[in-house]
Amino acid sequence: MAVSPTAMSDPDARCPVCGSSRAALRYRITRFRVYDCQDCALVYLWPQLDEREVREMFSRLYTEGEGSVPELRSYYAFTYEDRPDNPLVQLYEQWLDGIEAVRKPGRLLDIGCGTGLFLAVARRRGWEPHGIDDCAEAIAHARSHFGLDVSNGEFGAFAAQGLRFDAVTMWDIIEHARDPVGLLRAARGVLAPGGVIGISTPNQRSVLDVVAGALYRASRGTVTWPLEKFYIEQHFLYFSPATLEAALARAGLGLVTMRRELTDLRRLTLTPLNKAALLGMFALARWTGLENRLYALAADPRTAGGSTAAMVPGAGPVLPS
Ligand SMILES: [Zn+2]
Repeated sequence: MAVSPTAMSDPDARCPVCGSSRAALRYRITRFRVYDCQDCALVYLWPQLDEREVREMFSRLYTEGEGSVPELRSYYAFTYEDRPDNPLVQLYEQWLDGIEAVRKPGRLLDIGCGTGLFLAVARRRGWEPHGIDDCAEAIAHARSHFGLDVSNGEFGAFAAQGLRFDAVTMWDIIEHARDPVGLLRAARGVLAPGGVIGISTPNQRSVLDVVAGALYRASRGTVTWPLEKFYIEQHFLYFSPATLEAALARAGLGLVTMRRELTDLRRLTLTPLNKAALLGMFALARWTGLENRLYALAADPRTAGGSTAAMVPGAGPVLPS
């Protein structure tokens, strides 16, 4: 199979961030192609699943914990209990530390709040929790288990109500978005003056892409299984630090801080051999700055200056992009 970037043209492919159809084939895996946008450098999966397929898949992930990647079998099981030994709770505390370094607790909206675990942690720390998710099974847990007043539906309709929030979070949401810039713009639209947006997403510029991509090219496109662990069907978009910052700018948002993180392996179902391989790759990632995840805080530069009392200066280093 030919794998040179210009080997195929795809008249249907369209960059979800900039709309360009100029795409270079990066990889061909399963029933998908991974493209590099030639105009804004975004890496994206094509074709995208349709909305019904995505909704059904998330219902399955929460209720049965299955999916195309067996290593993620237990990944969603950590979304149910607010316990100090839950690795996901520990991660949420770190993410809230980052937000609270620039914004005091106030009204918080979690877009894609799932089972409500993040909101439960935030409420403990003094935030007034609000959430929205289109997965009815997850919302039912948020209401019954955590007693959260969360909405079931689409963020677009929710945003039109005119409510405002001091923090808007979207943890591992933007990579699922069909219109990521529209999502960011809508999030900006519900920010109170001086509010902050928290985002996490996989980092395309990661050691996983480097190693799996090298195996793919060395095998002339026949070894695809390592890539299939990273480029998965429910993630349409793969941002790098640079393309994430550029997408924020398109939505009228400025970067407050960005840092690279590594997946907590306690959340994955791994054989000892796979775990050893991943630990080796993660050590390499730390050394080379190619960690597999991004955490970013963004704000609306037009209103952030008006409420500097709530903003703490020097919140952290911004990665070079
Ligand atoms: Zn583009």
